[in-house]
Amino acid sequence: MEARREELIELSLKIHQNPELGFQEVRASRWLTSYLKRNGFKVEKGICQLATAFSGEYGSGKPRIALIAEYDALPELGHACGHNIIAAAAIGAGVALKGAIDQLGGSVVVIGTPAEELFSGKGIMVQRGAFDDVDAAMMVHPNVLDIASTRALACVSLEVEFIGKAAHAAARPEAGINALEAMIQAFNGINSLRQHIRERARIHGIITRGGDAANVVPAYAAGNFLVRAEDEAYLDELKIKVLNCFKAASLASGARLEYKWSEAYYAPLRVNTALAEVFTKNLEALGRKVAPPMNRAFGSTDMGNVSAVVPSIHPTVAIAPLEVPDHSPEFCAAAASEMGHRGLIDGAKALAMTVVDLIAQPEAMARVTEEFMASD
Ligand SMILES: [Zn+2]
Ligand SMILES: [Zn+2]
Repeated sequence: MEARREELIELSLKIHQNPELGFQEVRASRWLTSYLKRNGFKVEKGICQLATAFSGEYGSGKPRIALIAEYDALPELGHACGHNIIAAAAIGAGVALKGAIDQLGGSVVVIGTPAEELFSGKGIMVQRGAFDDVDAAMMVHPNVLDIASTRALACVSLEVEFIGKAAHAAARPEAGINALEAMIQAFNGINSLRQHIRERARIHGIITRGGDAANVVPAYAAGNFLVRAEDEAYLDELKIKVLNCFKAASLASGARLEYKWSEAYYAPLRVNTALAEVFTKNLEALGRKVAPPMNRAFGSTDMGNVSAVVPSIHPTVAIAPLEVPDHSPEFCAAAASEMGHRGLIDGAKALAMTVVDLIAQPEAMARVTEEFMASD
């Protein structure tokens, strides 16, 4: 890994400087696959009928371990989630493992998963069988702490539209139906609901259209919401309650409601603790202090969908000071900083060391599998 340090950092910075949104990561996936190909990996592009998804495999034996790469950016903010580091760490770990696999057997597959933000690319790839023949899956996400056992909420997105009726806002307000007011009513309903939901659930949204001129009664309003919960059963309950807020606003205002739950679904993350323990030991051997398992304040990740079908971990490495929030311009800068580079190299090393442990110690691999089989 040390020998490849400079080229991995260069790859990470190239992705960082050329941010591409979900499903449009054409350059990132080209750079990553050509790096793998140059290093003797068997590469397949466009897997799962997704143009920017890929797999790169080395070795052919069992166990077959997946290293996950993400490489999508955020609108306006660029790589403010640091996915450039996730990509470079996965590729770096994969290539560093070649010698070990030549000696010990087993195989490693780097799976390139597009559109983590907003579209749940891995959710689609799980459905299309990308993880069917994988014994364990892992990745490393940049953060402000080194954590082996992270948590993430189930999440689904809702698109809403209110269709009202335009009229002169001063001369004939009684002739109009105000779609924006309906949207505001729905927000107020959700704000009231929020007092009475479980602590870890989250409901948040934005208005994407709210009228065109102050002197016209808005005939159209649109918004986008995310609903999150710790488990799928409670998510289903919340979805009904949230939708009722929109229906109530529609009834009160007379504006017609159109809505659509997105197909993109994020499953709750199920961390394999046996695997997290191996990773912790390796990250600590690199001189990092691993924080205790996370128990509050978390988002969602499509690695949750992978964790439902394969033993998985979604650990994090610190790349920024504690006060820097993810999805901020400061975090974007950290993803291209010295501290970011150190996180990338340590993350890649800990991933590679963990794969070696699974291949070299059948009893470690067995513990991971047994834990996964025992959980429902
Ligand atoms: Zn993110
Ligand atoms: Zn992310």
